[in-house]
Amino acid sequence: MTLLRSGSATDTGLVRSVNQDLAVETGTLFAVADGMGGHAGGEVAARLAVDTLTVAFGRKPTGAGLSEAVTEANRVVFEHSLDNPDLRGMGTTMTAAALVNEDGRDVIALVNVGDSRSYRFHDGQLVQVTVDHSLAEEMVRSGEISESEAAVHPHRHILTRALGVSEDVVVDLWRIQASRGDRFLLCSDGLTNELELPQIGEVLATVPDPQVAADLLVRAARTHGGSDNITVVVVDVVVGEDDEPEVPAVAAVAPDFSSPADDASSTGVVAEPGSAPREDVSVLPGPEALKPKFRDRWRARRRARRTARGRRVITVRTVLFTVLLAAIVYAAFYAVRWYDTNAYYVQVSNNELMIYHGRIGGGVLYKPVEVERTGVTVADVPAYTVSQLITGVQEDSLKAAQTYVANLVATQKAANCTQNPTAPGCTPATTVPFGSTATTTTSTGAP
Ligand code: MN
Repeated sequence: MTLLRSGSATDTGLVRSVNQDLAVETGTLFAVADGMGGHAGGEVAARLAVDTLTVAFGRKPTGAGLSEAVTEANRVVFEHSLDNPDLRGMGTTMTAAALVNEDGRDVIALVNVGDSRSYRFHDGQLVQVTVDHSLAEEMVRSGEISESEAAVHPHRHILTRALGVSEDVVVDLWRIQASRGDRFLLCSDGLTNELELPQIGEVLATVPDPQVAADLLVRAARTHGGSDNITVVVVDVVVGEDDEPEVPAVAAVAPDFSSPADDASSTGVVAEPGSAPREDVSVLPGPEALKPKFRDRWRARRRARRTARGRRVITVRTVLFTVLLAAIVYAAFYAVRWYDTNAYYVQVSNNELMIYHGRIGGGVLYKPVEVERTGVTVADVPAYTVSQLITGVQEDSLKAAQTYVANLVATQKAANCTQNPTAPGCTPATTVPFGSTATTTTSTGAP
């Protein structure tokens, strides 16, 4: 026979305008969902998820049933997001605890997807049961960064698993023997980002009433920054299995089982993670793709603080994608425009040679503009160039276009004079200096 007592509290915090967190507190099922997604996405995802979870768990109130309920919640949220374009990409975290009876024993089953957390407060020690499905946590496990670095890491809000963002989800499941005096804390990251573990532990150790403890924790996180929605559920095991002598007692000191598979027998915790999380990085590229480039703690902290406000999985990627796309479009636009406008051409229009700014036939983004009427007609240029001039002759600059026209005129003039040296304006250039020199000589010598 096990009896539970619980309390819960939630707060929008000091920065966000809406609360996308949701707490569930029924007699035997407790959960925290931290929704994400623009518009109303986060709230819808969290609401759909907890509603589905509650109903599905009610049909099958076992550990496996709880895990299956999360899978069903994932499907419902995902399908809903497909049916509603406004809600595309919405998702939620889900951490839940339920009292279940398995093989005649009362057990607390815990499930998790995302970075909301479940802790067990036992014998004065606060130990995180769930494992965050965040990029930072993956990096800690692969040894790339330390736990303390992870706490301020800019990627700590990026989830590697979330509920409702893809067709399938892998659910982690733990079973813990219900022991009298145990206290379970379910919370969204809005609590753990603002408060250190000892601060949380102290509240849990000194405030017996679960509702008062939940209220105090939320208020403390608000006071310490409140940069995110804060949600807390505190569940106390008032009467537990270990009141019955035949059940072995839980080990006095719970080791830090940051990996759920650690030392299950000695703590009474049986871990059943859905699968190795490393193979499950489907939402985002793996840690290798996003290796931290910084060594500088100060900069890391600053960046972490900045990204703390941005919402994760989808949002961070969407922002990066949008910025990148905007940069590409911007660059392409200017490259094309530069290409279009960095040219001139000569073309015949109504028998006259015209100089235009732009590309022959018009550019993609720039319509050619007439810049000069040359006054030169097709009769003034060599006949063999006319068909080319009707099509247009591209030049790099206005000066080059003008030179080209002048050369055509000079060429034609030279050709005309070769054929008919006595034609007007055909005084051979070479005779002029000689003639003038002779005249000068004569005139000076005359008096
Ligand atoms: Mn949050």
